[in-house]
Amino acid sequence: MPQPDSPDPARASVASPWDGVADRLRASGLRWTPQRRNLVEVLREHEGHVTATDLIARCRELDGTTTPSTVYRTLDVLENLGLVRHGHAADGREEYHVLPEHVHGHLYCVGCGTTWEIRPETGALIVDALAADLGFSVDLTHVTIAGRCEGCQE
Ligand SMILES: [Zn+2]
Ligand SMILES: [Zn+2]
Ligand SMILES: [Zn+2]
Repeated sequence: MPQPDSPDPARASVASPWDGVADRLRASGLRWTPQRRNLVEVLREHEGHVTATDLIARCRELDGTTTPSTVYRTLDVLENLGLVRHGHAADGREEYHVLPEHVHGHLYCVGCGTTWEIRPETGALIVDALAADLGFSVDLTHVTIAGRCEGCQE
């Protein structure tokens, strides 16, 4: 008789989406090095957005031998695994979203430098409008709209 409420023994020990990341990186052809362990530890401390520049700086604080290319290459694989997703800030620099829950675009205020996520419903309006107008398929993760927030309009 099935017991839907009984804990699944395979999942009971899964405490974090980062568990098993060493094996998953190895399966993707990357060696599990101290530099990669540091990057994963730094990412685990973050929620929301972090720039590649900040990640590289933090990793180099922990281990001065870490190169930007190691960080970027590892981030690429982590993105394929769904643990991070990159977008671009208004100035084009790469920003990583840690443990992205849903695809979203961003608003950037040129007055105070604050970034907001575009709500999924609003994002869908943008996607649908451009699909209807131009048949264009918008990649919301790469939409960053610059402007001024309410407080910066005076
Ligand atoms: Zn990109
Ligand atoms: Zn975001
Ligand atoms: Zn502002």
